[in-house]
Amino acid sequence: MSFDSFAFNPRITAGIHDLKYQDPTPVQAQVIPHVLAGRDVIGIAQTGTGKTAAFVLPMLQRLMQGPRGRLRALIVAPTRELAEQIQGVIEALGQHTGLRSVTLYGGVSFNAQIQRLRRGIEIAVVCLGRLLDHLGQGTVSLDHLEMLVLDEADQMFDMGFLPDIRRILRQTPARRQTLLFSATMPNDIRALADEALRNPVSVQIGRVAPATTVNHAIYPVAPHLKTPLLIELLQTIDTESVLIFTSTKHRAKRLGEKLVQLGYRATSLQGNLSQNRRQAALDGFRDGSYQILVATDIAARGIDVSSISHVINYDMPNTAEAYTHRIGRTGRAARTGDALTLVTNEDAAMIRAIERVLGAALKRELLAGFDYNAPAPIRDAEFARPPREPQYRRNEPRRRESRPDGTPARPAHSPHHAGAARPGNRRAGGRSEERIR
Ligand code: ADP
Ligand code: MG
Repeated sequence: MSFDSFAFNPRITAGIHDLKYQDPTPVQAQVIPHVLAGRDVIGIAQTGTGKTAAFVLPMLQRLMQGPRGRLRALIVAPTRELAEQIQGVIEALGQHTGLRSVTLYGGVSFNAQIQRLRRGIEIAVVCLGRLLDHLGQGTVSLDHLEMLVLDEADQMFDMGFLPDIRRILRQTPARRQTLLFSATMPNDIRALADEALRNPVSVQIGRVAPATTVNHAIYPVAPHLKTPLLIELLQTIDTESVLIFTSTKHRAKRLGEKLVQLGYRATSLQGNLSQNRRQAALDGFRDGSYQILVATDIAARGIDVSSISHVINYDMPNTAEAYTHRIGRTGRAARTGDALTLVTNEDAAMIRAIERVLGAALKRELLAGFDYNAPAPIRDAEFARPPREPQYRRNEPRRRESRPDGTPARPAHSPHHAGAARPGNRRAGGRSEERIR
């Protein structure tokens, strides 16, 4: 299948050409014809499958006809970063169309957004909190809306945005085309789709299972040795771009700082940062000025960075689905990626759940030469200093080693693990996009 078969306006085709997209991805091939035909669509496909262009391209095609200077298409995204990313795709694919788009989210000047709106736009990419503010002030009207896209619907649900989505829906014309994209389809999203979409076509690409090009490995370790082991792993493996996940904002920040202290080009992405710093972290990671990004699930979900060689789960995710979301970021487009997960004794049940989803056992790995029996420091801080200083210059890289039975040579057991903090309530984030974890 080729993009030609959609018969896009040549100005849109030029944008596709600029982005060097050769052929549509499977989700694009299946979704675009339905959207062009005016149908409502539910698109379920994992992260990295090209869902953005699947709605942006037919949206541009529709907007090429009809009036300019009024808001005709609205895209709702769960986080500011995702809104910016979508905006980037619209600007790139739509650069020859003359269509204008704006992003509306909190944390940046309200007035600047109003100025932009006054100059005339056809597309808005928004986070819910700020959109509701604009609607409340009458600075945005949805009266002429023809198309509504709910992107990353499952994440919006996780963040507690459902009531806000309903509020928005009530202010849009009933005669609109609605598209809903999600990596997963839990029942609540199904219910939302029933409310918001009319006679939708469902397109589901693959199971929600990670790309097969990813190598998965788990590293059993005592909780207090996670940081030393991570540092040894970073020195050992041949990493290009590494995305590290932690369970909390605080841990992301602390680990990011720790890695910087140790001389790594590292930064963190979490909801406590100002919008500028979040964008700087993300841009720096994309362009390679940072080699390592430490992030929480919500901060990083849906974010596309194409050159990630390794995903390291410093903390085990909450759910098997979160695991597939995380590692969906490596091994894209047949690039082989590695997914490393540090696990403690209390993660056993989650490991089994992930293995069920993957349909395969996760490889247990041991790092040869690592002192798995190093004692916990007396002050058992969240990030205890490593028991010994890591060595930076090493002539011979260490090799990873695994035993057939999958257990560490010496048990990675610590009396301190029992009270280790578990990730908090996924729904605790509140309804503002400011409060991402
Ligand atoms: P999703 O929303 O499904 O997570 P994205 O829309 O962010 O995925 O796309 C993932 C990556 O794939 C992006 O880097 C995007 O530029 C790239 N991409 C999308 N469509 C194509 C295509 N047809 N050909 C090549 N690359 C594509
Ligand atoms: Mg997406």
